[in-house]
Amino acid sequence: MKIIALGSGTSQGIPVIGCHCPSCISEDKDDIRLRSSIYVSTGNTSILIDIGPDFRAQFLANKINKVDSVLITHEHNDHIIGLDDIRAINFTQNVTIPIHAEPRVATDLESRFKYAFLNPRPTVPRITMHRIDNSPFVLGDITVTPIRVMHDKLPILGYRLNDMAYITDASYINEQELAKLTGLKVLIINALRKTTHPGHFNLEEALEHVSLINAEKNYLTHISHSMGPSRTWSHQLPSNVAPLSDGMVIDL
Ligand SMILES: [Zn+2]
Ligand SMILES: [Zn+2]
Ligand SMILES: [Zn+2]
Repeated sequence: MKIIALGSGTSQGIPVIGCHCPSCISEDKDDIRLRSSIYVSTGNTSILIDIGPDFRAQFLANKINKVDSVLITHEHNDHIIGLDDIRAINFTQNVTIPIHAEPRVATDLESRFKYAFLNPRPTVPRITMHRIDNSPFVLGDITVTPIRVMHDKLPILGYRLNDMAYITDASYINEQELAKLTGLKVLIINALRKTTHPGHFNLEEALEHVSLINAEKNYLTHISHSMGPSRTWSHQLPSNVAPLSDGMVIDL
């Protein structure tokens, strides 16, 4: 399984428009962070997790042109608003793309992209909505296990895909859900910044969860400019933890 980090930034990305903080003026390419999303492929099956405002640029930059399924973590704009650009995959691959989301999120997407769901025609995204619950399901040779996490007061989903898990926008995970994350080779988990935030793990909380979950290798994502430039904090991380960076490829 190969994971491509399409984006590792929080909702505004880095640099933030008009900001002159050290992260936003950094010339280190690791400090350019598009909105959070990953692409997972096995050769047999390719899955996109979240499709935010940078989807088009991310697929172009990483020369990707195939998606078998899209998994949505939640309905915030930074995770869904690139959905219209899935048309390119419809055209070039001549496929309709299944979108998987929990019922509340599915209903929200059907309302925001009503033109695609209510009146399917060649000029709109060709997508089908699949409402999922928290039981595992199979896509090709990947077993997908939804992981319930809290994003402040909003229940959202992370996903385990075989031996990797992607958890973003989490501020709390209960013990029952943590138990679904045992034996991971790779964990990608959100770490917004050093100070606390009601809707997201900060760096300390993310590292506590890294210890609890105990995956072999861990990557931090959904990073804000207020974390500071990557070079100022990444070397202080435990040896099995690194910041995700855009374009990074993880093989497992
Ligand atoms: Zn987000
Ligand atoms: Zn900034
Ligand atoms: Zn969010």
